[in-house]
Amino acid sequence: SPLLEVRGLTASVKETGQQILAGVDLTIREGEIHAIMGKNGSGKSTLTKFYLCKTNRDHAHCSGTCMFNQVFVFDLQVLVGHPHYKVTGGTILFKGEDLVDMEPEERSLAGLFMSFQAPIEIPGVSNFDFLLMAVNARREKSGLPALGPLEFYSVVSPKVDALKMDPKFLDRNVNEGFSGGERKRNEILQLSVIGADLALLDEIDSGLDVDALEDVANAVNGLLTPQNSVLMITHYQRLLDLIKPSYVHIMENGKIIKTGDSSIATQINEGGFKSIALV
Ligand code: ADP
Ligand code: MG
Ligand code: MG
Repeated sequence: SPLLEVRGLTASVKETGQQILAGVDLTIREGEIHAIMGKNGSGKSTLTKFYLCKTNRDHAHCSGTCMFNQVFVFDLQVLVGHPHYKVTGGTILFKGEDLVDMEPEERSLAGLFMSFQAPIEIPGVSNFDFLLMAVNARREKSGLPALGPLEFYSVVSPKVDALKMDPKFLDRNVNEGFSGGERKRNEILQLSVIGADLALLDEIDSGLDVDALEDVANAVNGLLTPQNSVLMITHYQRLLDLIKPSYVHIMENGKIIKTGDSSIATQINEGGFKSIALV
């Protein structure tokens, strides 16, 4: 079965009932790279948030103060945005399991990774400790012994180097005072340390300079195996030249209105969204 299978997904803002997703169908198989493009406000970020926020639930308990929430804070979009969305129809299956019924932390342990369009700060938790907690939570789930700080340093250090990050970023609190580009790089550091079967990358290229974009793309490409998949949201051809998508989807008004190969991205780049024939 596919890694991810979204069928007829509809969703609304919980409080107002305003519909944002109007029937999304999306299938991602192992080893595939998908890109979603679309005008601002078409529902791209909302689509990825569903994999993270358990719907129909008040996330009041995710106040970010307990250790548990800190470990999985990147799954808990709710810490910042409180996107109180509600799935009103359709299904999301990840490895054949219904994601809507899973807790955010379960989704993460199941192999789903989300990088946020606007990565959040975690005051009081160093990047190093955050990554160590996340890695040990996964090791525990797999019945492996926890890594100590020294052991972990030898794991994380080459990944920091590969992303051309200054090691001092490990000692700084997660994303605190990081520039936009540094946050994006840090998201990919998390991905490369934690790993994922499916990585959702929301505008990972925004705010990155040309060199940083290349470092980030190299890191993502370095993680790809025939089993791993990526869904990336982007406005720019440049990212797609570096991480080559198997499929490009165009989203409009809460729906995927067209799917094709990377030539769609080239077409949009040259003629705008209006140049895409919708058949
Ligand atoms: P994209 O990522 O494609 O730019 P989003 O998924 O962020 O778009 O948003 C889709 C639409 O839904 C936008 O018009 C946005 O303003 C609206 N929207 C998203 N979340 C909320 C919310 N919590 N309340 C009201 N409107 C929302
Ligand atoms: Mg946007
Ligand atoms: Mg967005």
